[in-house]
Amino acid sequence: MPNLRLRFLSYSIMVYMLMAFAWWALLLFTKNRDAFHAKRELMQIGMVAEGRVKSAAEFEQMGDYQALAKKYKRQEYMIFGEAMVFVLTLLAGIWFINQGYQKEVRANQQRRNFLLSITHELKSPIASIRLVLETLLRRKELPKDKSEQLANSALRENERLHELVENLLLSAKLEAAYQPFFEEINLADLLKENMTKISERHPDARIILDGADEFPMVKMDRQGMISVATNLLENAIKYANDRPEIEIKLRYKEGQVTMDFADNGPGIPDKEKKRIFEKFYRIGSEETRQTKGTGLGLFIIEQVVKAHKGSIQVLDNQPKGTIFRIVIRES
Ligand code: ADP
Repeated sequence: MPNLRLRFLSYSIMVYMLMAFAWWALLLFTKNRDAFHAKRELMQIGMVAEGRVKSAAEFEQMGDYQALAKKYKRQEYMIFGEAMVFVLTLLAGIWFINQGYQKEVRANQQRRNFLLSITHELKSPIASIRLVLETLLRRKELPKDKSEQLANSALRENERLHELVENLLLSAKLEAAYQPFFEEINLADLLKENMTKISERHPDARIILDGADEFPMVKMDRQGMISVATNLLENAIKYANDRPEIEIKLRYKEGQVTMDFADNGPGIPDKEKKRIFEKFYRIGSEETRQTKGTGLGLFIIEQVVKAHKGSIQVLDNQPKGTIFRIVIRES
């Protein structure tokens, strides 16, 4: 609200300045014209008295008069030019204020959404783990396979909590002091391990990896790459409909690593393709959204990729879905 008042105040001042300036410019114009007419008349009277000219038409042909007319015309152009520069500067100012305000409003909305979703994300695994522990305590005579099943589900929830906290920590670190630790890693193996872990959690998802054979060792930040792969795979499964199908394509050519993560989900509209990388940004509104999330995943991915001096692109998959393409050149 104070922002809105501030914006209203700055607009009012700008409108006032524009009007005041238009008035001054008009005044200057008329004064300039009056001065020109007065001088012209004086000059003409002088010339007639000296007998140099006889008619007004003759006077207008005189060099002195033409120099005078030229000078005043030049002054008119100057006034007009100054006015235009002023108006354009003011309009640019208004545009910048407006942009800043819109950005602030969006950031506030995203922060609100984030708080809403993070509370939800933290509460649900905590509640599930508590329920499992209570059941195990209360029903000590449960058959072994049943109690194992319960313990496993608690472990899965715990893993979810762990990943969420990791994401939160990483995103805080990314802004303050993220220092990637570059070491020789086996990217193909790292992806395979990640796939196995995620497949255990989502047995209905089909994940395939292409291009892993004889993939060379590459210099990258292991932890960062784990975050990239986990977040991309989790997203691909989360936003897919019922049977998630994901294909990871790994390529290496002349020191350049290309990773494609293609899914069969709903796809991402063109106008959202840039915004999804903003911190806390989620498509749609928190009330209508079905899936859980914090809007941190793609922000983290982009930061990690940037730390590797790489790029990430969002492409449309065929017949439907999204491809996230990461290109990193080895340094
Ligand atoms: P979160 O998944 O926690 O919402 P992300 O930063 O990972 O946050 O993603 C931002 C938004 O981008 C998501 O809310 C979702 O709308 C969209 N998105 C991300 N990945 C996909 C995908 N594979 N398919 C469709 N939409 C996606």
